[in-house]
Amino acid sequence: MLLAPNVLAFQAQHGSLTVTYVDPRDRQQLGAVFKAWDAAARDLKALGLSPPAKVRIEAAGNAADFQARTGEPVNIAASTQGTVIRTQRLSALAARGLLPTTIRHEAFHTAQPAGIPRWLAEGLARTFSGEGKADPRTPTGLEGVADARLDAKLLERDPTQLNAAYREVTVRAAKLVRARGWKGALKW
Ligand SMILES: [Zn+2]
Repeated sequence: MLLAPNVLAFQAQHGSLTVTYVDPRDRQQLGAVFKAWDAAARDLKALGLSPPAKVRIEAAGNAADFQARTGEPVNIAASTQGTVIRTQRLSALAARGLLPTTIRHEAFHTAQPAGIPRWLAEGLARTFSGEGKADPRTPTGLEGVADARLDAKLLERDPTQLNAAYREVTVRAAKLVRARGWKGALKW
């Protein structure tokens, strides 16, 4: 029995980015992570944003490890706090086709302006990452819900509402970007 499977972590460095991972197979995904990160950093700069000088991506060894590290439900891909991005196992994200968009989404969170409301931060992160493009175009059922209430819904993590809440904030953020441009939307 392994008492502390996370003690042995691997580490890789790419410019200002450090990646740690537990599963040795995740090494095969490092190239994709670095590529997505570099593209995100370049695109963020074009919007007048810049990721912090040093960022660490910590890939969990498995879904339970991710849950233990973040307190998030297992169906969440990643979670960012300050300059640390915690993700599911990189190979698991890659197998589901989620690795590049997850890196882009979390890169946005590391660079987003301080003080923007949660709903807007999530909506802009999903617009920036391209996740919004894959959303169904059907109504979310939350069209009449106030922005502040959507903030609460995102925090509550109610599995029956979370998807719709993410979709709804993305619709609103994308609309704002269309109306005001990225720089206008970021000056909330
Ligand atoms: Zn997010």
